[in-house]
Amino acid sequence: MNNPISTFIADNFFWALVAVLALNLFQRKHGVRAKKKRMATLFLALFVFALYSYAILVVQLKLHDLFLLIYVAVAAVVMYLLRKSVLPFRFNCISCGKRLDPKEIAFEDSNTCESCREKQTEEA
Ligand SMILES: [Zn+2]
Repeated sequence: MNNPISTFIADNFFWALVAVLALNLFQRKHGVRAKKKRMATLFLALFVFALYSYAILVVQLKLHDLFLLIYVAVAAVVMYLLRKSVLPFRFNCISCGKRLDPKEIAFEDSNTCESCREKQTEEA
């Protein structure tokens, strides 16, 4: 077998897709504050779904894992072009640099920490 990576993806990435869609459903609860990030997880779900389908194709046609590189290259270009929509996630607060907690990373479009958000609402 010359496609162990594709086989792994074809066998397991269905659950990765479910995980991304589950995250998308959780984001729905956070309403407008997670609007951009909800779109982003939808995009990411599309990427995961495309990778999953592509890996199945590679396995079915008994192609080499190197064919996955085509997907990686295309996905990298598309993600780069759409980076604002696909990857709005930041790990640190954009105004003070403090590490954000996982909830803020996943659900807070503003990418600011709690104290910075409080400051902003006071100023507004
Ligand atoms: Zn901050």
